[in-house]
Amino acid sequence: MLEYLRTVRERPVWRPVPADVRKRLSGAPPPRSPADPADVYEEFKRDVLPYPTGNIHPRFWGWVIGTGTPFAMLADMLASGMNPQVAEFDDAPAVVENQVIGWLVELLGLPAETHGLLVSGGSMANFVGLAVARNARAGFDIREGGLHAGPKLTVYASTETHSSVRKAVELLGLGHDALRSIPVTADYTIDVQALRATIAADKAKGLRPICIVGNAGTVNTGATDDLHALAAVSRAENLWFHVDGAFGALAALVPELRPLVAGLEQADSLAFDLHKWLYMPYEVGCTLVRDQQAHRATFNVTPAYLASFDRGIAAGGFPFAERGVQLSRGFRALKVWMSFKAHGLDAFSQLIHQNVRQAHYLAGLVTKHPRLELLAPAPLNVVCFRFVVPGADDAALNALNKEILLRIQESGVAIPSQTMLTGKFAIRVAITNHRSRRDDFDQLVRAVVETGSALRVG
Ligand SMILES: *Cc1c(COP(=O)(O)O)cnc(C)c1O
Repeated sequence: MLEYLRTVRERPVWRPVPADVRKRLSGAPPPRSPADPADVYEEFKRDVLPYPTGNIHPRFWGWVIGTGTPFAMLADMLASGMNPQVAEFDDAPAVVENQVIGWLVELLGLPAETHGLLVSGGSMANFVGLAVARNARAGFDIREGGLHAGPKLTVYASTETHSSVRKAVELLGLGHDALRSIPVTADYTIDVQALRATIAADKAKGLRPICIVGNAGTVNTGATDDLHALAAVSRAENLWFHVDGAFGALAALVPELRPLVAGLEQADSLAFDLHKWLYMPYEVGCTLVRDQQAHRATFNVTPAYLASFDRGIAAGGFPFAERGVQLSRGFRALKVWMSFKAHGLDAFSQLIHQNVRQAHYLAGLVTKHPRLELLAPAPLNVVCFRFVVPGADDAALNALNKEILLRIQESGVAIPSQTMLTGKFAIRVAITNHRSRRDDFDQLVRAVVETGSALRVG
C-alpha cells in the first residue's frame, strides 16, 4: 500500500471497472470452502486495487471527498488489530477519543464544557445534532409521546444546505415540509431578513420553530452564512443553533481563514468531517454539542445489561452510546490522535491554507481566460466555472459543459464534479486534497479548454 500511494500520480485518476473484472467480482457464489490467502490477495491486486474511486489521486476534486494519509492508514490497522468496542469502558481507546474530542473543541474555539463524539461522517453528525435540537427545543416530551404530542415543529436552513440535513429532518419524523428553505443572496449565503420573516410567519400560523441550521462552507460554492447573525436570531427566538461545517469548519484551524467561518463557536451543535478536510481515511466525522445535559437526554437508554458501576470495566463517565445512535463503535479516534501527534497540527493548518490558495489560483486562471467563466464567488476551497462560447445560450452551454466534464472524467486526467447554479451547469472543483500541486490545476484548465474547443455547440 505504501508503494501504491507513492505511485498514485502515475495512474489515471479513475477508470471504469472492465467488464471481465466486474463479472468476476459480482457473479460468484458464496465461497464455502477456503482458498489460499495468497491467491485471494492476488485476486485483490488484480480485480479490486486498480479500480478505486480515485480520491487519493492529486487531481481528484469531485464532490467533497478526502484523500487519507499513509500514517493514518497504518493507525487504522492498529485500531483494527486492537479491535476495541469504544463504548466508554474503562480502557485507553475511550480516553483517547475523549482527548481527541477535547482537542477539536479547543481548536474550533467552542466552550470547554462542549462534548461530542466521533461518528461515521457529516450525515450522521448532522443527524445527531438535529436529534438533540429537536428534543431540546420541542417544548414537549418527544421521547415519551412522539411528535403527535405537540404542535408541528419547524427547522430553518438556506436553499444551499446539504441534502443530509433534509434526510435528518425527515428521519426525525418532522417531515420534509418542516424544513423551511430560506433563499440565499448573491453570494449564496442565507438571506437573514427572509429567515426572520419566515420564522415570524410560521409562528403566526401556530407552528413551533425549533432550530436554525447555518452553513460553514456550503457544498455547492463553499459559502458561509452570517453565523453571528444566525446565532443572534437563534438566541432571540430561543431556537437551537446547529452548524453544518462538514468541511468549512476546519478553516478555523488556519488563523488567516478563521474570520471566514466566524460565529461557528456560537453553535449549540456543530457537525463536521475529519475524512474530508483533515485528510483522514474514511470514515470519521464529529458532532460537538455544547449542552451535555440535552445531549444525554436525547440518547440515554440504560437497560440492566448496560448499567455502569463506579468500579470495574464498566466504570461511569458519559458513555458514547448515550451520545449518539451507535452502541458498538470502532476506534476511529486512533488515526486522528496519532496523526495530530505525528504530523503536528500546524501541518494540517498549512495544508488547509494551501488548498484555499489553490482554489484562488484556479479561480484566477478561470477569470483570466477569455473562454472560461467563474460562476460563483470562491471564498474557500470550491471553484465553480464553465467553458463559454460567444453567442451560445445557457441551454447550449449546459449541454456542452456536461460533455466536457464527462470526457475529462473518462480521460482519467482529473475528476471534477458538477452542480447547477441559477440554471447554469457548473464544472465544480472542491479541493480537500493534500497531494494537489499548482501544476495540477494548470492541467485541468488546459484539459477543459482543449476539450471544449474541440466540441461543437448545440
Ligand atoms: C459531505 C457533506 C455532508 C455529509 O457528510 P458525509 O461525511 O458525506 O456523510 C454534509 N454537509 C456538507 C456541507 C458536506 O459537504
